[in-house]
Amino acid sequence: MSTPYKLYIDGKWINSESGETFPSLNPANPKDIVGRFQLGNEDDVNKAVDAAERAFKKWSETPAPKRGQILFRAAQMFRERKEELARLLTREMGKVITEARGDVQEAIDMTEYMAGEGRRMFGYTTPSELRDKFCMTIRMPIGICGLITPWNFPIAIPSWKIMPALICGDTVVFKPSSDTPLCAIKLVEILEKAGLPKGVLNLVTGPGEAAGMTIVRHEKVRAISFTGHRDTGKTILKEAGLKKVGLELGGKNGIIVMDDADLNLALDGLIWGGYGTTGQRCTAASRVIVHEKIKEKFEKMLVNRIKKLKLGNGLNPKTDVGPLINKAAQDKSKSYVDIGLEEGGKLLIGGKVPRMNGFFFEPTLFTDCSIDMRISQEEIFGPIVSLIPVKDFDEAIEAMNSVEYGLSSSIYTKDMRKAFLAIQRIEAGITYINSSTIGAEVHLPFGGVKHTGIGTREAGILGIDEFSEVKTVYVDYSGKLQKAQIDIK
Ligand code: NDP
Repeated sequence: MSTPYKLYIDGKWINSESGETFPSLNPANPKDIVGRFQLGNEDDVNKAVDAAERAFKKWSETPAPKRGQILFRAAQMFRERKEELARLLTREMGKVITEARGDVQEAIDMTEYMAGEGRRMFGYTTPSELRDKFCMTIRMPIGICGLITPWNFPIAIPSWKIMPALICGDTVVFKPSSDTPLCAIKLVEILEKAGLPKGVLNLVTGPGEAAGMTIVRHEKVRAISFTGHRDTGKTILKEAGLKKVGLELGGKNGIIVMDDADLNLALDGLIWGGYGTTGQRCTAASRVIVHEKIKEKFEKMLVNRIKKLKLGNGLNPKTDVGPLINKAAQDKSKSYVDIGLEEGGKLLIGGKVPRMNGFFFEPTLFTDCSIDMRISQEEIFGPIVSLIPVKDFDEAIEAMNSVEYGLSSSIYTKDMRKAFLAIQRIEAGITYINSSTIGAEVHLPFGGVKHTGIGTREAGILGIDEFSEVKTVYVDYSGKLQKAQIDIK
């Protein structure tokens, strides 16, 4: 058996205090054990927090452009190793190789973007109401940030958190998903090689409850940034105490297809949004809201296309749809097919676990769904799409907004008036016009409304808000006591 991978604490690769390890499996072939990893516990988290605390002063006082140079070096290393990382990602998570390359590219883009932020990190100046007084805002690091990430973008999502935290001068304790610890280790190795000082970034692999929750509750951790399931997010919010908390949670995203839409374009968008990454994206299109005039035609087009999707190992270039992440996810998809049938949804295609090695599930389409069915409301995180027929634009918007989540959304129409009305009326953090629900770019803010989060945004210029504090500075050079709101004549 190969040597277990280690935790990274205070610049050293070490074993967990628990002395235990856990495996990470290839979801396309669960007999293929990707590696064994340390089962980090409370003691390991405490060590990591202490290391992050020791490293904070020096790192936070390092000029931000210098911090940026380390990130630029890391971005270059990511680029040189892109193919190797993408293949590893496919092996550990199952994503088809083209999408895995996209995941790594996103990490490169984010690393470069945040490296550049080292020379911006803007505050602002504004006039004072008093004479001879200067007012401005500056950005301050927060302190130790606890970063907890899911498995579905195992390199990109950690980089969406680690890079802004580092550029802002924070130190980090990072707990990745237990389904994709090797991707996390590779990311940390690159940052180490790029020259990150010891203790600035610490990695603890291990279970959500023991390792994750210890970070969340730790008194010395000043901020938590979490991406994952809504219910985990709710628990984290309750347990974090007086910390800054950023939550990026689930979605039940929809695509509206109006009767004037370019149906071939909408078809491409739905196939990509609904079945890409096997439906395991927070922005996946799991609902298609279709005008009744084109419903039958669009259903036929969808079924014909879904029939042609090839399931398989993501390393095979002919594969369109890879496996689900694990057995629990496969069971969950199966159970939602049963729920959909019980609720009266009409199964047009798919719905079964195919006879394949690995955690595969057939791309599935239900039609004649109503907005209140569980398959139209709940996040399944599998290749299952509900088609909801509507009679007009207003009903389409109502259907779109009928869910508790509000992450991504899309409308296909040639009518620009309807497109702009949709932008205005849809309750979501992201709206696409004539494009699918997926495909975030790192220089734009990313996040959702309603149960998808609590208002924070990652990426883009707003991405550093989560990892910095704003200080307001007043410089009075009048040489006398001036009282705001009082000495205003
Ligand atoms: P989970 O919430 O199950 O896990 C996410 C992370 O939290 C993992 O590292 C997990 O550790 C950890 N964790 C689990 N329980 C706890 C706990 N009690 N305390 C602290 N940490 C804990 O989500 P998934 O990994 O299954 O990811 C899928 C979800 O993520 C979907 O709902 C998806 O929509 C959402 N997501 C949202 C995005 C967004 O930007 N809005 C983007 C991508 C995904 P462990 O693995 O050890 O259990």
